Amino acid sequence: MLDALTVPARFAENLPDQRVRCYACAHRCTLKPGQRGVCKLRFNRAGELRVPWGYVAAANIDPIEKKPFMHFLPGASAMTFGMLGCNFHCDFCQNWVSSQALRDPAADGAGRYVEKTTPRQLVSFAHRSAARIIASSYNEPLITSEWAVDIFELARQAGLYCVYVSNGFATPEILHALQPYLQGLKIDLKCMSDPHYRELGGSLQVVLDAISLAHDLGIWVEVVSLIIPDFNDSNDELWNMSHFLAGVSPDIPWHVTAFYPTYQRLNTEPTSAEILQRAADIGQEAGLHYVYAGNLPGRVGSLENTYCPHCNTLLIKRRGYRIQDYQITASGTCPKCGTKIAGVWG
Ligand code: SF4
Repeated sequence: MLDALTVPARFAENLPDQRVRCYACAHRCTLKPGQRGVCKLRFNRAGELRVPWGYVAAANIDPIEKKPFMHFLPGASAMTFGMLGCNFHCDFCQNWVSSQALRDPAADGAGRYVEKTTPRQLVSFAHRSAARIIASSYNEPLITSEWAVDIFELARQAGLYCVYVSNGFATPEILHALQPYLQGLKIDLKCMSDPHYRELGGSLQVVLDAISLAHDLGIWVEVVSLIIPDFNDSNDELWNMSHFLAGVSPDIPWHVTAFYPTYQRLNTEPTSAEILQRAADIGQEAGLHYVYAGNLPGRVGSLENTYCPHCNTLLIKRRGYRIQDYQITASGTCPKCGTKIAGVWG
């Protein structure tokens, strides 16, 4: 059924002998007729790359803090849609039923959530729900970028903001192509070990380059690291992650979030509040201005709040996804010392 819900690719090039090369993600699959990409979603049919279009596996109204973005229209609702499939196969994926739908027989049932729709219907849903943002999330958005761009074109005309919630395994070409539509990009930085990245199906340097390029392109970037005990929680690795981010910009918010056992990683202990606090301390020591601890609401002290990096005034007080107090001025500054607070406050 999913193969019928496809259109010709925009983010691919034709090669001799009916082969096509996809550049929607950094796998850059070169496919002969009949072959499918690593994502299993995009496929060569008689010399034409066919890509998903015209359905969602989920569409919900969520607080933007759930994506998570802390410096992007705080308190706004995001109409969030997702399709199926992923270009990674993380054994700790929290959305594995939709992300691994085409790669893991255990996720076979995901097809029953598929609902046909159009970009116009989705933008209209966002409007009716008073959402100011449209987010492509739940599965990896890079691999369904044609669908997202068609939605975002209409969304931008309607005055909505558009964001991706991505693993960052992007090519420079796709980031340049998305830049006119995308105001926000959440990227996972899963670890600082290339062998570990390869186990998940990616490559460390590609993700680091994507973070740098997206920032240089003027897209608002927030980075999330799911902290998994004995996988990426050593002081060295946390330092390397935060030191890299601070080198791109100390204003990039870094979210260190708590793992809980799921999918194929059931024998690892959940991340404690103490581990998140240690990660945050390291991030702050590396020079990052905004470090947040997620997935343990009410248990991480001040690490859910935003403070002025200059005078330490409490600017946004949060509990989980709820904003309890908001002090940033309409022009995006600290009300006490006037420091410009990095983000999209519109
Ligand atoms: S999106 Fe990535 S994995 Fe899928 S076909 Fe394109 S390059 Fe390959």
